[in-house]
Amino acid sequence: MYPDVLLCINGVWTKAADGRTIPVVNPATEEVIGSVAHAGRADLDAALDAAAKGFAAWRKVSAYERSKMMRRAADLLRERAEKVAQLMTLEQGKPLAQARMETGVGADIIDWMAEEGRRAYGRIVPARAANVQQLVVREPVGPVAAFSPWNFPINQAVRKISAALAAGCSIILKAPEETPAAPAELVRCFIDAGVPAGVVNLVYGVPAEISAYLIPHPIIRKISFTGSTAVGKQLAAMAGQYMKRATMELGGHAPVVVYDDADLDAAVTRMSASKFRNAGQICVAPTRFLVQEKLYAGFVDKFVAAARAIKIGNGTDPATEMGPLANPRRIPALEGMIQDAVARGAELRTGGNRIGNRGYFFEPTVLTGTPKEARAMNEEPFGPLALISPFKEHEEAIAEANRLDYGLAAYVFTRSTKRATAAIAEIESGMVSVNHYGLALPEVPFGGVKDSGYGSEGGAEAIEPYLNTKFASLLSE
Ligand code: NAD
Repeated sequence: MYPDVLLCINGVWTKAADGRTIPVVNPATEEVIGSVAHAGRADLDAALDAAAKGFAAWRKVSAYERSKMMRRAADLLRERAEKVAQLMTLEQGKPLAQARMETGVGADIIDWMAEEGRRAYGRIVPARAANVQQLVVREPVGPVAAFSPWNFPINQAVRKISAALAAGCSIILKAPEETPAAPAELVRCFIDAGVPAGVVNLVYGVPAEISAYLIPHPIIRKISFTGSTAVGKQLAAMAGQYMKRATMELGGHAPVVVYDDADLDAAVTRMSASKFRNAGQICVAPTRFLVQEKLYAGFVDKFVAAARAIKIGNGTDPATEMGPLANPRRIPALEGMIQDAVARGAELRTGGNRIGNRGYFFEPTVLTGTPKEARAMNEEPFGPLALISPFKEHEEAIAEANRLDYGLAAYVFTRSTKRATAAIAEIESGMVSVNHYGLALPEVPFGGVKDSGYGSEGGAEAIEPYLNTKFASLLSE
């Protein structure tokens, strides 16, 4: 059932001009299940031309009509959700239930942004003279180049497409080569909903070649990237060199502060589910667990038991709770971090190894007593690895939470409003969630600070990066 995925340029589904393709592998079986078209320079030039024409047409469509078309796309995505989820599980590995949820939330994000486009208000500034009108107008920035990753094939792409379209921009999406079919189905929903040709264009290829060509190109006015901090810094530098606006949704290393008055069982249940969801390949995944001394031993025991109880298997099996890693690179990356931590004195409480030798399965892993110098305490694991450490005082936990250059998500567990309020104020991160996993809904901001990037991809803020502010002063004579 897995397709050979095509490019979408100017509303037409097409092979690469030179016919090149990239194989797509099922991470649960390591079988090649299909291919994706590999765009070359001629395809990118065609996409740029289409995006320029698409922008000229789309910016003239009223916000009301744009919103209607977007909502139609959301409805199509809901109608097709089962097929999209099946494709996503085959190419990405996550359990079908998680793929279904991602697709459903994707439709909700389109609906939310469709409405935000209708609320992109300007304003009138009172003038100093009676015959002067001072207008503040919001305008779309222009064609967008967007780069979305493989961990959430729909979710990361839909945030970019729907914010761009709501604002009146056109977009060239470079979707992930590892997981191309689900984002292609997302784009198909927009095309089938009647969005004019050239407004949404889809390419795949060599990421570094595509970004190096699109970002400097004069047609592109804005970029949006989700991925690692290392790559984000390179792309942000390029965007700066060419004075392009940029949104950067980058890596994280989320701290979880569990105070001694917390509901221990709730903290373990909610955070183990969040840690191992999508096999830990989530930028907001809880990673550094800081547990106050009184609860520490109990938390470790229960968290280890929760990790051991997770049912691992092919995401197509309804019993599966955690699938494989999405690509083979993550296996040596995780093994290296775990070996380094253990060599420096960390205690491996469970897991630590690849499972079998077919499919990129990895054990849910818990380390305790990992020294701060260990790589795992500094680099994003992006896998099913939890690091648990004790703390004595609030100040110590906050200092550890803020020690890294990352600042994406943080979690706090406490029954004390005073402690929760202090933690919210003192933790340096774009998002803080207290006593649950409360992030990433369409209507709330999503983004980081420090090395985790800038700009928000959720809530009312999400449309801002796609809008210019124009001031007009009109003297009537
Ligand atoms: P990577 O750094 O090679 O790539 C990360 C993403 O960026 C991929 O989707 C890739 O296609 C894209 N990319 C890489 N170089 C690019 C370039 N020059 N121009 C445009 N796009 C480029 O790492 P990886 O092995 O694919 O993923 C592992 C790391 O990536 C993780 O450690 C994690 O930090 C990060 N990551 C973060 C997110 C997120 O949601 N923020 C998602 C996926 C990956």
